[in-house]
Amino acid sequence: MTTHTAAPTREDCVARDAADPLHPLREHFDLPEGVLYLDGNSLGALPRRTPGHLAKVVAEEWGAGLIRSWNDAGWFHQPGRLGDRLGAHLLGAAAGQVVVCDSTSVNLFKVLGAALRLRPGRGALVAERHAFPTDLYIADGLTGLHPGARPVLVDSAAQLDAVLDADTAVVLLSHVDYRTGELLDMAAVTERIHRAGALAVWDLCHTAGALPIQLDAADVDFAVGCGYKYLNGGPGAPAFLYAAERHHAAARQPLTGWFGHARQFDFEPGYRPAEGITRFLTGTPPVLGLAALESSLDVWELADPAAVRAKSLELSDLFLELTADLDVEPVTPRQHERRGSQVALRHPEGHRIVQALIARGVIGDFRAPDLMRFGFTPLYLSRADVHDAATALREVLASGEWRQDRFARRGDVT
Ligand SMILES: *Cc1c(COP(=O)(O)O)cnc(C)c1O
Repeated sequence: MTTHTAAPTREDCVARDAADPLHPLREHFDLPEGVLYLDGNSLGALPRRTPGHLAKVVAEEWGAGLIRSWNDAGWFHQPGRLGDRLGAHLLGAAAGQVVVCDSTSVNLFKVLGAALRLRPGRGALVAERHAFPTDLYIADGLTGLHPGARPVLVDSAAQLDAVLDADTAVVLLSHVDYRTGELLDMAAVTERIHRAGALAVWDLCHTAGALPIQLDAADVDFAVGCGYKYLNGGPGAPAFLYAAERHHAAARQPLTGWFGHARQFDFEPGYRPAEGITRFLTGTPPVLGLAALESSLDVWELADPAAVRAKSLELSDLFLELTADLDVEPVTPRQHERRGSQVALRHPEGHRIVQALIARGVIGDFRAPDLMRFGFTPLYLSRADVHDAATALREVLASGEWRQDRFARRGDVT
C-alpha cells in the first residue's frame, strides 16, 4: 500500500516559517515590496546594514582617514581577515589559507598556474566540457602560456577515471554545477585525483553560502569562488581563493604583483613571494567592495551553516514537489547529497517563461538553451515565498501568458 501525503498548503508553509529559527534573518535584507527573489545564486540580495556600513567607510575611513586608513582602519590586512572569517564559518578552512581578492576568473588563473608549476613534467589540465565558460576560457589562456600544457575535457566528473593518468597535472571541477545544481562529492573526487598524483582545484561559486563544506578535511589543494552570489557581497564583489597550507612554500602563482611580494614597501626591483597565502595577492585590494562583503559576513555569522543547509534542502524539495505535475522537466538531482541550493527546470520556451515570471515579480533566471534556474537562499526566502513562486509558475504556464511578444526580447544578461 502506498500512502499519499498531499503537498503542503500555503498555510502549512506559513506555520513552518513561524517555527523556523532562521526566519527572522530575512529582516536583515532589503528586498523590494512585491518581489519574490529566487536569483540569489546569480546576485545575492542587499543586506540592510551594507549601505550604512559603506557610507561610514567612505566618510570616515576614506574621507577623514585618507591614506592613514591603510594602517589605521586595517585596509591592508582586509583580504586575509575576510578570508579567515569566510574560511572558518563556511569553508572549513583553518586560518591563513583564504584571501578575498580579484574576481573568480583571475583567481582561477592564479591557482591553476600555481598548480601546473607544482606538477612539472605533467601537461594535462582536466576540466568539464560544460563547466562555467570562464573556467574553460581561463584554462585555455593559461595552458597557451605553458609549453606542453593543454586542456583535456571530460563530459562529467564520472568520466575522470578514464582520463586520469601520469600526465594529469591538475583537475578543475565545479562543486555545484551552475546549470543543473548537481553537487559532487568533494572528498571522494579529490581522493581519486590525488591517487593519480594530480592536484584538485574546485570552483565554489555555487557552493560558498549555499552549503557548508570542509576544504581542509577534504584535502583540497586549491579553490576559488564568488563573493556576489550566495555570499551577498554585491555586484562585482571580490572573490575568494583558497590554497592549502602544505602548498604555500612551493607554490608560485603567475600574477606576481606587489601585494604578493615578501617586502612590498621595500620597493625591490625583483619579485620575491611573500610567505603563506599572501603570495596569492596581486594588486591593491578593492577596499569598498571588501567592506560590502564584510557587512554581509556579519549577517552570515548570525546563521548556523548546518541549519542553512537543512532549510535550503527543504525549500528546494518544496519547490520540486509543488511543480512536479507541471509541464517542465526538473534536471536537478532529487537526492540531497547530490543537490546544491538551486532547482533547474527545463522547458523549450524557458526564456519567455522566466520573463513572464519576472513581470509578476518572481525573479529567477535562464541559462541557454532551455534551463530556468531558481535559487534558494534560506537567509531571506521563506517556505511561503517558495509556495507563491510555484503558484506563479503554475499560473504562467496555465494561462500561456508567456507567449506574449514582450517576453521574447533577450537582454544582454539573461
Ligand atoms: C559566477 C561564476 C563565475 C564567475 O566568474 P567571475 O570572474 O566572477 O565573473 C565563475 N565560475 C562559476 C562556476 C560561476 O558560477
